[in-house]
Amino acid sequence: MNATLRARALRAGDELEGAPAEEILGWAVEQFGSGLVVAASMAEAVLVDMLSRIRLDVPVVFIDTGYHFAETIGTRDAVRHRYDLPLISVAPQLTVAGQDAVHGPRLFERDPDQCCRMRKVVPLDRALAPYQAWAAGSRRAESAGRKNLPAVGWDERRGKVKIHPLAAWTDEDVERYVQEHGVIVNPLLSDGYDSVGCWPCTERGQGRAGRWTGSTKTECGIH
Ligand code: SF4
Repeated sequence: MNATLRARALRAGDELEGAPAEEILGWAVEQFGSGLVVAASMAEAVLVDMLSRIRLDVPVVFIDTGYHFAETIGTRDAVRHRYDLPLISVAPQLTVAGQDAVHGPRLFERDPDQCCRMRKVVPLDRALAPYQAWAAGSRRAESAGRKNLPAVGWDERRGKVKIHPLAAWTDEDVERYVQEHGVIVNPLLSDGYDSVGCWPCTERGQGRAGRWTGSTKTECGIH
């Protein structure tokens, strides 16, 4: 079953390379329907907006780590208000206070990988479990580690098709779409933050350079 799905994903990745983002997302919606879920970081709502123009019953999932900036939670709430899509906010098993009690305060400083695992990876795994495929707004231009991101690929660990409709988009492409469609944008992006994450691990900076500054960590492990 997984081998067939994997082969389908890799074939689609070849066929859809260079296709417009709307076509890639449209393919995913057509192929997987309610078996598809879209993950949103709430940096901007480009992918959510695009989805809303295709189909309104595909859920959007947001990981509420408990460490988000107020602006990010506000962006989530504005997106929920504006779009008629099911928006699922997923929380970790432990609250921040609960995590502090069990693992000690400021785990994000002492062991960010464990903190990310408990607050992002495990909750997302749980949220994605019922679905065959998931889409995210990751782009090749965001970092060196993402430069080979396929339009459609295979999430080996989770055994799911993973779709990146915006893989080939530049920052200018995002800006153009935002302007053309009046897309909701997290206010942090006009306050010097290029990448939006948890407040303890995000500083102002270009691209994803503001994430986990001073450490070699570049990804939280969900991608
Ligand atoms: S980004 Fe930082 S605060 Fe957020 S889950 Fe990861 S380590 Fe914890």
